[in-house]
Amino acid sequence: MTRAIQMVDLHNQYLRLRGELDAAIQGVLNESHFIKGPQVKRFNNNLANYLGAKHVIGCGNGTDALQIAFMALELKPGDEVIVPCFTYVATAEVIALLGLTPVLVDVDPHTFNLDPENLEQALTEKTRAIVPVHLFGQSADMEPILNFAAKNDLYVVEDNAQAIGATYRFSDGSERKTGTMGHIGTTSFFPSKNLGCFGDGGAVITNSDMLAQRMEAVANHGQYEKYKHDLVGINSRLDSIQAAVLNVKLQHIDRFNSARHKVAEQYDDALRDDPRFEIPVHMENSTHVFHQYTMRVQGLDRDDLRLYLSDLGIPSMIYYPIPLHLQMAYKQLKYPEGSFPVAESLSRSVLSLPIHTEMDEEQVQFICKSIQNYKYEFA
Ligand SMILES: *Cc1c(COP(=O)(O)O)cnc(C)c1O
Repeated sequence: MTRAIQMVDLHNQYLRLRGELDAAIQGVLNESHFIKGPQVKRFNNNLANYLGAKHVIGCGNGTDALQIAFMALELKPGDEVIVPCFTYVATAEVIALLGLTPVLVDVDPHTFNLDPENLEQALTEKTRAIVPVHLFGQSADMEPILNFAAKNDLYVVEDNAQAIGATYRFSDGSERKTGTMGHIGTTSFFPSKNLGCFGDGGAVITNSDMLAQRMEAVANHGQYEKYKHDLVGINSRLDSIQAAVLNVKLQHIDRFNSARHKVAEQYDDALRDDPRFEIPVHMENSTHVFHQYTMRVQGLDRDDLRLYLSDLGIPSMIYYPIPLHLQMAYKQLKYPEGSFPVAESLSRSVLSLPIHTEMDEEQVQFICKSIQNYKYEFA
């Protein structure tokens, strides 16, 4: 093995794009326009064009993006927001922080995404919004979610931190990129995300001029005009250096996603017929950009498999080991164990394998062989 296998290999990705990235960063240093510089505007436009959305506004990180979205929608303490219970904590955290009530729903056992069938039972007269999360790189089933939201006069905020570049197809054949279907989409440019910068970064996405203006104001101390504060806002900015990095990387996003896809195909082919694993399910109406390659293991000891792989130099991760309703911080929501059987079962059975843009075939082959040989080699 020439290079160590990693869950994500940011250094080799940097080396591959070094010339372009160094020049972009040097360009910002030369301009020394570090906040709200021209690179930020350029990136907002570039990402909006790529996504087919009207507005993109860069901000500090993906968690801030969610906060900006909920603040711009003027949700009030006590309002309820429906969230899948199997996601990264940031999705629910901001809701709780703003005094809104996260109402958790269980997910689909195969796609890991919010199951639209569970929306009806979560609905009350306090429900104001739904936050589908496009987990691991695949779109949530947006058509029924959007229909349910329209019928019940709810906002839809898509947490697109893990699926930038994925496409969802509606039953009429039209296609939209994830993050552009709801009232607002949010995303993160945390370095390990599919489109990552060299620090923290995030963005909100919308097709509404009014929401775009309000989100811009919220993220900028509540000002529509300088030193005139109409709203209580926050300070959340994408800085010029990160925007310059993202302008370079955005040009490679489709190649990044197809490199991930190629790794996923190799895993699929190697593990498809192995009854010990359920490989990721590809929805017919969504592309998958494989932020994670997450499979379910059945009938074997997941910890023992992870140890065995680790001894061979193969890292693996569990996303996510504890569903939101069983996290200590969310105890006050009073969902006892057993409330969300699918999420609870997933947290005991999921396993994510290394996947990133710099994996070579030899590395993936080695991982596949090692998994196939698990147990048998001791026989
Ligand atoms: C990464 C992530 C976030 C938060 O993004 P940060 O930039 O780290 O704040 C939110 N939601 C999901 C689903 C994520 O994966």
